[in-house]
Amino acid sequence: MRKRYEYERRRLIENLVLEGVIRSEKVRDAMLNVPREEFVLEEYRKWAYLDQPLPIGYGQTISAPHMVALMTEKLDPEPGDIVLEIGTGSGYQAAVLAEIVAKRDPSRRGHVYSVERIPELAFFARKNLEKTGYIDYVTVVVSDGTKGYPDKAPYDRIIVTAAAPDIPKPLIEQLKPGGVMVIPVGDLGVQRLLIVRKSVNGEVHVLEDTYCLFVPLVGEYGWRL
Ligand code: SAH
Repeated sequence: MRKRYEYERRRLIENLVLEGVIRSEKVRDAMLNVPREEFVLEEYRKWAYLDQPLPIGYGQTISAPHMVALMTEKLDPEPGDIVLEIGTGSGYQAAVLAEIVAKRDPSRRGHVYSVERIPELAFFARKNLEKTGYIDYVTVVVSDGTKGYPDKAPYDRIIVTAAAPDIPKPLIEQLKPGGVMVIPVGDLGVQRLLIVRKSVNGEVHVLEDTYCLFVPLVGEYGWRL
């Protein structure tokens, strides 16, 4: 069974390389190393390497592999970076980031802080990160991520994996000069992936990338559902 997943993982990742979604060695290696089958619900395990989102309970989903690949490429994390993720979900995206910023070279002391509003999902993610060996590099926090996580700010990179009506102000404030944020912004039916860069002198530039569809970012600076 394990061999089968490894084969399917390699096939999916190599396809994403051929399609031009994965462009860098670091994203390719990270996605080859993280076992997605360990981040989905038992009943969906055999679908782990379909390039699709899958339900993780509580009306939420683990993002499709091509979306994780694309967002990680746009975020362009470096070893040693301190990363903030909003929307831990299954913990899969956090593991892919941890692989790049921390696990490769623990001496650089990179780390991922990941915020989740649903306590049961934070528990699910911690369990998944523990069994796959990423828990030392990822801290899962239960709170409203639209307010960011001021305790460890500022961040080199910020990634939001839920759909926001606008870029939450606290997240712009908690981004380091020279930092990058990737966030889907739009209405609940469709969003645009925004690449937000803060220059070294603090100017903020926004680039509109691909169309996408995420579950809503619910909170004070998000959707008030
Ligand atoms: N990155 C995840 C997928 C996330 S799905 C993965 O790799 O599996 C989006 C997640 O964002 C859901 O778990 C949802 O509960 C969470 N979320 C929505 N609004 C939030 C908020 N304000 N703060 C933190 N998490 C939030």
